Amino acid sequence: MDRLTTDLAAAIGAAHVLTDPELIAGYTTDWSRRYTGTAQAVARPGTTAEVAEVVRICDRHQVPIVPQGGNTGLVGASVPSRGGVVLSTRRLRRLDPVDALAAQVTAGAGVTIAELQAHAAAAGLEYGVSLASRESATVGGTIATNAGGLHTLRYGGTRAQLLGVEAVLADGRVISRLGGVEADNSGYDLSQLLAGSEGTLAVVTAARLRLRAAEPHAATVLAGLDGITAAAEAQAAIRARVPGVRALEYFEAAGLALVLAHTKLPAPLPRAYPSYLLAEVGGPAEDAERLAELPLLADAAVAVDRAGSAALWAYRERHTESISAAGIPHKLDIAVPVARLADFRGELDETVKVAAPEASAIVFGHIAVGNLHVNVLGPAPDDLAVDEAVLRLAAAHGGTISAEHGIGRAKVPWAGLNRTPEERSVMQAIKAALDPAGRFNPGVLFS
Ligand SMILES: Cc1cc2nc3c(=O)[nH]c(=O)nc-3n(C[C@H](O)[C@H](O)[C@H](O)COP(=O)(O)OP(=O)(O)OC[C@H]3O[C@@H](n4cnc5c(N)ncnc54)[C@H](O)[C@@H]3O)c2cc1C
Repeated sequence: MDRLTTDLAAAIGAAHVLTDPELIAGYTTDWSRRYTGTAQAVARPGTTAEVAEVVRICDRHQVPIVPQGGNTGLVGASVPSRGGVVLSTRRLRRLDPVDALAAQVTAGAGVTIAELQAHAAAAGLEYGVSLASRESATVGGTIATNAGGLHTLRYGGTRAQLLGVEAVLADGRVISRLGGVEADNSGYDLSQLLAGSEGTLAVVTAARLRLRAAEPHAATVLAGLDGITAAAEAQAAIRARVPGVRALEYFEAAGLALVLAHTKLPAPLPRAYPSYLLAEVGGPAEDAERLAELPLLADAAVAVDRAGSAALWAYRERHTESISAAGIPHKLDIAVPVARLADFRGELDETVKVAAPEASAIVFGHIAVGNLHVNVLGPAPDDLAVDEAVLRLAAAHGGTISAEHGIGRAKVPWAGLNRTPEERSVMQAIKAALDPAGRFNPGVLFS
């Protein structure tokens, strides 16, 4: 063992320091398989004090640190590019009893979203963020990416659930605001600063999170539509007339074909459509009736129980794995104003064709917030032409190059499309103040 791994082993136990290439392979390649790198070691600390010790050791040895939770991130930020230590948070598994009086809970960074949801449900409450990667994605990772997901329309993204964090800074100091006092204007909100920081400012070790009243399930509807214009109109009509709407998701014929081929599920509707809208409604039964009355949803499958709802959700939630089974996708997670969705979509196929003539684009996403996941299959992982073309198209339509996945390593060259030089320089000043040696996640967010 070299000095670095000897020191890490002394601090957290040799069993929690991995160096065998076979053992660390799962930590150095990201979920999409597009980004892969090398690491000197993977450190798996089990307490906040151990995280602090790992950070101090890496600082002493002058090696980069890549914080990692479930490694489900899709922008190459959770894996190292050129060596360093992967700091896995998966052993930070604190999960305190739900504070029912405040509807809050404190959870360790390594708790998965599925575990957090089950914990909240056992207390009759609900965690507002849900995503198809819930079995692996962690509390810390979703904070660091400010993850959105299926219920953003209803509850907002992770930022809106975050009341405070405990985190280890680059010099090993610990900051902690887990008291759960919601009314607190006593200075800068350092917890919110870490939401969306993509592991570049600190290691989140625990968080205080807001919970919501669990909503009864009224209905899930999967409707076939003529295209994205009809889907944009349908989602607007639902939002205007159905107060209990929780999710509005969009996908298309090409994505559904991959899902059916990969999962062997039967087709959801008797005939095929260019586009599909999935709506989930909570709240009173009248909401489901209002939804059923909407003429825009002429051909639809409807589920009023949870099992039927899960069966309809599978057509949407299994897109990511089905696309990945077909190849290594370029995942371009953009958002445009809802009013521009149809124009953006109308230009997308030609834009992709010009940049990568052999490529095809699979589109799905959270339509109510203008978020489309453009997945391009065909170009080599390191061919950036199609990434550039699609991200520029989103910006030209007044949109963002990252709706919920972050900038990571994948989108650094185009970060200036959405942020002014002034904003970028303020972000860099914050980075320099908190992590002057640039230990945390070099190459992520900034080149
Ligand atoms: C099938 C599938 C569906 C998905 N659906 C959605 C979706 O609907 N919405 C959405 O937003 N995303 C989605 N994602 C992307 C991904 O799940 C999210 O980005 C998630 O938040 C990543 O969590 P993680 O624990 O896996 O983090 P990782 O992938 O391990 O890390 C992601 C980033 O967070 C940093 N990080 C991780 N833990 C910490 C920590 N404790 N402290 C500081 N930094 C940390 C890493 O350095 C990295 O920059 C999906 C991914 C898959 C595979």
